[in-house]
Amino acid sequence: MISPNHETDLLIWSVRRVVGAGEWLLQELSDHGHADECCEGPADALAGALVDLPRQLAQFTLYSDGRPIVSYIDVDDGAMEFFTLWPPHPADVPTGPWEELPTAVAPHRKHGDRGYVVVGWDPATFSGSVRYIEPLRVV
Ligand SMILES: [Zn+2]
Repeated sequence: MISPNHETDLLIWSVRRVVGAGEWLLQELSDHGHADECCEGPADALAGALVDLPRQLAQFTLYSDGRPIVSYIDVDDGAMEFFTLWPPHPADVPTGPWEELPTAVAPHRKHGDRGYVVVGWDPATFSGSVRYIEPLRVV
């Protein structure tokens, strides 16, 4: 669905950022042992407030000017998925392609043993690309 107007564009972008930050915070709370103890109440409240948003956000695929809101790329035969959230203001779209920091491919035995992927995004096509970096060989 195309967003009906620029005000909705801004709302979609803001809510997507809230969901991303909220999910990150919940993961950190869990990883640090807060989810079961001191912070259980607010963590549960946040999780409840976020639960329907990804499905509701997914209804909107295009900004009101027709640009994609989010682009995705599958990596490692679908084992990993990367995405980028495009800015709601056309003037804020980067003028040229860029690359993200390298990410380790899911390892066999230890971090980095299957190498790394570098995801790039091209604002001319709103599409992603991937290049692989071979694992470091210790001699
Ligand atoms: Zn806590």
